[in-house]
Amino acid sequence: MPVNPQRFLADLHALRSIGADGPGVVRPAFTEADIEARKWLIAQIEEIGLTPHIDPLGDVFGLADGRGLLLGSHTDSQPEGGWLDGAFGTIAALEVARAVMEDGGPPVSIVSFQDEEGRFGGLTGSTVWSGAVSLEDADTRVDSTGVTLADARRAFSGDTWVDPDRFTGFIEPHIEQGPVLDTAGEAVAIVDAIVGAREITIAFSGQQNHAGTTPMPLRRDAVQGFVAFATALNERMETLRGDRTVWTIGEVSVTPNASSIVPGSATFSVQWRDPDDDRLAAIEEAVQELAKETATARDLDLETSRYWALPPTQMDPELVARLDAAAEDVAPGQWRRLPSGALHDAMNVARLMPAAMLFVPSINGISHDFAEDTAEEHLVAGLNVLAKAVLG
Ligand SMILES: [Zn+2]
Repeated sequence: MPVNPQRFLADLHALRSIGADGPGVVRPAFTEADIEARKWLIAQIEEIGLTPHIDPLGDVFGLADGRGLLLGSHTDSQPEGGWLDGAFGTIAALEVARAVMEDGGPPVSIVSFQDEEGRFGGLTGSTVWSGAVSLEDADTRVDSTGVTLADARRAFSGDTWVDPDRFTGFIEPHIEQGPVLDTAGEAVAIVDAIVGAREITIAFSGQQNHAGTTPMPLRRDAVQGFVAFATALNERMETLRGDRTVWTIGEVSVTPNASSIVPGSATFSVQWRDPDDDRLAAIEEAVQELAKETATARDLDLETSRYWALPPTQMDPELVARLDAAAEDVAPGQWRRLPSGALHDAMNVARLMPAAMLFVPSINGISHDFAEDTAEEHLVAGLNVLAKAVLG
């Protein structure tokens, strides 16, 4: 294997020192630390002999001569981010590209997408590059303090886009950010799909009233409706769910939210995720039905609104097969196929070219936290699987 694990780990720690906060990092998109990290990456790109390119969104590419694979992830972080989220994939890509420049091999280009973590919405760099949102529309987005993307990117951006046709495919290595590999004691997962998600908002309205004087049979209590719905949803999901289905009622608001008033309304989100679009649709139908049944049974008014729907993204079968073979070679019997429950840039890049991902374990499944970590042997196993899949 021509890749050098020691050099790879040293680079990961060099990137970790930029915007460091304890064991974690603070590098949200276009902050000083993010820009410093991108400039550091450009210096590495120049040193290994690739051509650096900054696009209008601040995505950093290291371009090889000739058409070939693109590898990478992102170097921006959450406001309290772990040191490996995005960094692992970017530095693994850098090491494989460096090995190619030293020892020969097919052309390998690398990328660090901008604003994966969502200061301006999430996956922003790959979303605009893939054409899903125009730069003009993205520019009007504001962060939590009111700064527009147009203003923020003035600090670090170029003039021209990279032509996606110069790449034959994209592989994004990433930490799992979940507990499956760590719990199973496995080294690597090959991602075959990025799950889709749907979310709707349900509002039950009843009659707000005095909590002491209103007899139980005469109440139209919106919170009781909400509780009945939530309980029935869990029961109904047992027959609808697949192995990887997850669902969450994450946001609830009650009006007037006072202890001595029968609640007049309860509004809540229901979100579910799965790699299979048909199942996502079947669950949506069940959620709508259940909301109607609950409202009718309790004499509540019902309003539902679709908040968003994101279809699943299937990874490219040929790239997945190459990664499978590499994983079996590097970590025999210690890897599995896994859909990604989190969104990644690979989802956007899949619109432009064949795309695939590989995961390494997250210790205790922790991510988006300073405590995020991965055993060194697993970081190196991920690097070796990537190198094997790319270089053979
Ligand atoms: Zn990430």
